Amino acid sequence: MRTFTLLAMGLCLAGLPALAQPRSAGAPDPKLIEDVVVANRVLADLGVVDGFGHVSVRHDKDPNRYLMSRSMAPALVKAEDILEYDLDSTAVDAKGRALFLERFIHGEIYKARPDVKAIVHSHSPSVIPFGVSKTRLQPIYHMSSFMGVDVPVFEIRDVAGPASDLLVRDGPLGVALAKALADKTVVLMRGHGSVTVGTSIPQVVFRAYYAEMNARLQSEAIKLGAVTYLTAEETAASAKTNDALVMRPWELWKRKVTKPE
Ligand SMILES: [Zn+2]
Repeated sequence: MRTFTLLAMGLCLAGLPALAQPRSAGAPDPKLIEDVVVANRVLADLGVVDGFGHVSVRHDKDPNRYLMSRSMAPALVKAEDILEYDLDSTAVDAKGRALFLERFIHGEIYKARPDVKAIVHSHSPSVIPFGVSKTRLQPIYHMSSFMGVDVPVFEIRDVAGPASDLLVRDGPLGVALAKALADKTVVLMRGHGSVTVGTSIPQVVFRAYYAEMNARLQSEAIKLGAVTYLTAEETAASAKTNDALVMRPWELWKRKVTKPE
């Protein structure tokens, strides 16, 4: 009995480090690290993120890991700030550094959406009115066709009650957000911001920028009177065209935030 107890204790103790700190999937492609660093700087340069907001990418060696910076302002992110997380959003080796409170947005969406390879969360200002009013965010031009005609809004009150700080600060809130996103590319977060997902870093940066731009233009157009939006068929056709062109603005945006060779 005593032997069994000791053995059980030993197994428990042996299990603890694994629970506290997930195993690394190994070094990711250095290009992926470079791209996520550039994405942070580009999104800051475009005004999609400011002191807040984050971008992540799924690990190229293991779909159950993702890469994202430690908690810091995106414009200041360097390669050494990028950490590896498991899909419960536990850092593989944080080395005592602070993590984003809202990292669960990323882990839970990666769990729910195997097709998603990159995620941006921001508080970009122009989309905020569409998360709090009856006016739905709708694609006003071809650049935002990826949104489709039915952009969901996540109401955190439905899961966290009327007194939360609005942050997606744990796994269950991340699960609820991923459920609201469903199979879409953008989800607005009432009184908070938005999340954009994509299949690559250039694509998700494109989407985060043009979702913000669409919101700005839609607010302007509404002031002029009745607005004609893209049809579902137009969004599908245009999104297909744009997906083949995301590298063009990416190369431009990248050059602006990196030193010339
Ligand atoms: Zn946030």
